[in-house]
Amino acid sequence: MEMSRIGVVGAGTMGNGISQALAVAGIDVVMSDVAQAQLERATAAISGSLERLVKKDRMSGEQKGAALARIRTTTDLGALKDCALVIEAATENLPLKLKIFAQLDELAPAGAVIASNTSSISITRLAAATKRPAKVIGMHFFNPVPVMALVELIRGLQTSDETYAAVEALTKRIGKAPVQVRNSPGFVVNRMLCPMINEAIFALAEGLATAEQIDQAMKLGANHPIGPLALCDLVGLDVELAVMQVLFEGFKDPKYRPAPLLVEMVEAGYLGRKTGRGFFTYD
Ligand code: NAD
Repeated sequence: MEMSRIGVVGAGTMGNGISQALAVAGIDVVMSDVAQAQLERATAAISGSLERLVKKDRMSGEQKGAALARIRTTTDLGALKDCALVIEAATENLPLKLKIFAQLDELAPAGAVIASNTSSISITRLAAATKRPAKVIGMHFFNPVPVMALVELIRGLQTSDETYAAVEALTKRIGKAPVQVRNSPGFVVNRMLCPMINEAIFALAEGLATAEQIDQAMKLGANHPIGPLALCDLVGLDVELAVMQVLFEGFKDPKYRPAPLLVEMVEAGYLGRKTGRGFFTYD
């Protein structure tokens, strides 16, 4: 099935970025959400993002208009019935995603592929909610989608070679770099990145160095563009904690235990940039 029309479920941070990347690559997109207001916010966000590219001379006004015209929005999941691929990017919640996968399985054509952008849920588990597990795969994009090149392609236990090949070709077509990953907690990037951030929080709590010094050390000593604590503020302390819990529960290995300071800061509502305070403070 040629991937000329793709459905996106969920028009939040990731859904609108994914829709933008697809539309810029010339693909017709049906972007759906349960909330009409969210679809309007997503359309405005995409328009603003494309406008910044026009101002930087990286895209013409006509190209911006054409990309926007390729995105249709809907609150009716049924409007995705003709899509060759549906990318689910709804809220990170297992019962919700299982329900969406069962609904998509009912309405999408037999040959269609159903992908999830989940950061932590097992692709094999989502596939089991459908009658087409061979056609289910993870497409883990990174935030902000229009900027970040990587897409982890997660193979569930039953994902077929044909499904993988079709999604890999699409990923390349939209200018992204695919990396094949077996279904496993945290996949590749979060499996390594989140424990490193967690370790920085242990170091801070032990008084090894100040937050500024820890970040400075990793920037200058490991050549990281951003320190682990500033990165945690950017990602969100709640998101970091959620991933550590998935690793801890998934592997039952104490090396993944969340740092107690991280847990306490999340309890206090210090979630990072989005709340104005994390390991650093923000205006
Ligand atoms: P978000 O909260 O910004 O957006 C989620 C959207 O899903 C909301 O607009 C919500 O209205 C919508 N939604 C909820 N139920 C729905 C339903 N039944 N049908 C259609 N839409 C529904 O979340 P996000 O940050 O965009 O994350 C989406 C997914 O992407 C999650 O699985 C998350 O783990 C994953 N992810 C997030 C990031 C990130 O940095 N934010 C990075 C990679 C992957």
